[in-house]
Amino acid sequence: MAKSIKDLNIKGKKLFIRVDFNVPVKDGEVKDDTRIVEALKTIRFAKNEGAKVILASHLGRPKGERVPEMSLKPVAEYISANFFPCAFADDCIGSPAKSAIDALEDGDVVLLENLRYHKAEEKNLPDFAAELASLADVYVNDAFGACHRKHASTYGMAEIMSEKAAGFLVDKEIKYFEGMLKNTARPFGAIVGGAKVSDKIGVIESLMQLADKIFIGGAMAYTFLKHEGKTIGTSMVEEDQLSVVQEIYTTAKKKKVQIFLPVDHVISSEFNGAPMDCDDVNIPNGFMGLDIGKKSTDLYIEELNKCKTVLWNGPMGVFENPDYAKATFAIAEALGAGKATVVVGGGDSAAAVNQAGVSANIDHISTGGGASLEYIEFGRLPGVDILD
Ligand code: AMP
Repeated sequence: MAKSIKDLNIKGKKLFIRVDFNVPVKDGEVKDDTRIVEALKTIRFAKNEGAKVILASHLGRPKGERVPEMSLKPVAEYISANFFPCAFADDCIGSPAKSAIDALEDGDVVLLENLRYHKAEEKNLPDFAAELASLADVYVNDAFGACHRKHASTYGMAEIMSEKAAGFLVDKEIKYFEGMLKNTARPFGAIVGGAKVSDKIGVIESLMQLADKIFIGGAMAYTFLKHEGKTIGTSMVEEDQLSVVQEIYTTAKKKKVQIFLPVDHVISSEFNGAPMDCDDVNIPNGFMGLDIGKKSTDLYIEELNKCKTVLWNGPMGVFENPDYAKATFAIAEALGAGKATVVVGGGDSAAAVNQAGVSANIDHISTGGGASLEYIEFGRLPGVDILD
């Protein structure tokens, strides 16, 4: 495991902390502060040690444009209003960043504007990584949710900087997943939902080595159902993933992993249109599945209650809309009330357990959906490896 921030001498130094403040922001307001709260331990430690603290993060996918809705300014304001004064720099490089950093006294904090306003961040372009590196003396990565990405702020600049370490959050997350993988209480159930099969295919494949039961929900369920020969109407489907689904079934058979698919749905004629119950597994023409139905929810919960470990990543439906959130919240409540060790990964599932008010009963809420899945898949993460 990489060095910890505790092992560094940061007093009076310019300390760049890559955090994951990719939080939901609507109309300039932070809607869920889980990721901010999780990073506080590292930031407070750095402040107390007398570092000049530079925070940097991405928010959303602005793809190299200055999209105002994806500004981190509301996050700086939220931190100032709720925790400690946090300055804001209008750009993550150049004179806005430099002058804001020059103004820091020991123990002060500045948050830089969205890293992804620059295309070079995700492309990990060397000049941009070097510019970021030039801002600071010491580098700490505490953005567990971004550690699976080889971006300039998570990888390129870390390659350049000689003084570097992991923050407390990265350390805690890695230790949790390491322990879980070493010592898995069975049966192990994995709930995989969300939008894209292609995003999660790798993890479904690696979960085959680990899980006894896999529950599929969200939009990806329709690619699975189509593969089963069911009618799926206008539901979201990834045709190019059908052969991959076939491979998943082949492995599942070999490994004796049970795969559960929804048997009913909540549907609509248009995205976010009026909801209708569809009691059948087949969806009529002209309708799309936007949540798994009541029978499916009950079935999943009954099976989940037999599990000793449950990993949850991805909502069961378009849960941002209350009409299509019932299954996601019912599962959150059932996991909160159940006896299994429950690990929730991913912003959406974490938000669901928070909104359902059951987060205190969940054993580990990971701040990284993709990162936790990738760690489970490969047993390592590039953003952590580069700290060694
Ligand atoms: P992911 O980032 O892959 O975990 O996907 C999360 C997103 O999937 C959420 O924004 C949901 O609204 C969306 N989602 C879940 N179920 C569906 C569905 N049946 N159709 C379309 N989008 C969905």
